[in-house]
Amino acid sequence: MATKKSVRAIFPGSFDPITNGHLDVVHRGMKLFDELVIAVGRSPVKNQLFRPEERVEMIAELITDMPGVSVETFDGLTVEYAARKKADVILRGLRSLTDVQYEFQLAMTNRAVAGIETVFIMTSEQYGFTSSTLIREVASLGGDLSNLIPKSVHDRLKQHLKGADGRA
Ligand code: ADP
Repeated sequence: MATKKSVRAIFPGSFDPITNGHLDVVHRGMKLFDELVIAVGRSPVKNQLFRPEERVEMIAELITDMPGVSVETFDGLTVEYAARKKADVILRGLRSLTDVQYEFQLAMTNRAVAGIETVFIMTSEQYGFTSSTLIREVASLGGDLSNLIPKSVHDRLKQHLKGADGRA
C-alpha cells in the first residue's frame, strides 16, 4: 500500500501585523497541508511597524492550538528558505483580482528559478479589503480595528502606538 506523502507548506509574508485575513488563510491551509510554517520575512519593509521578532511573538500566541502550524523568521530569498525547509509548496493568500497580477508574477518567477509550486487560497469575502498596510494607517489615526485583527494584536498595536508618540 502506498504511504501518503506528508506535505509541508511555507506561508511567507511580512505579517506587520498579522490580520484576520492572514489567519483565515492559515485555517484553510491547515486542511490542505500536514505542516504549515508561517515565515516572517526579515527584509526591511516600508513603514515597518513591528520588529520581526515581535511579529513572530504575536503569531506564536495565536497558533498555540493549531496542530502542524509553526512560525519563524527568515532572511533572504523565499525560494532559498523554502529549499532549506524542504518545503513542498509556497502558500500565498489572494484577496482580489488586484493581488493576482503581482502574485502570478511572483509565483512564475519562483517556479522558474527554483521549480517550486505556489498554492493560492482565497480569503473569506469579509477580509477581502484587509491589508497590514491599511491596518497600520488606520491604527495610527486611532480607528477601530477590532473586526480586522485579533484582540491580542489590537492590544499590542495600541501599546505600540502609545509608546511611539511618547504618551503613557
Ligand atoms: P507580503 O509583503 O509578502 O505581501 P503580507 O504580510 O502583506 O506580505 O502578505 C502575505 C500573504 O498574505 C500574501 O500572499 C498576501 O496576498 C496575503 N494576504 C494579505 N492580506 C490578506 C487577506 N486579508 N486575506 C488573504 N490573504 C491576505
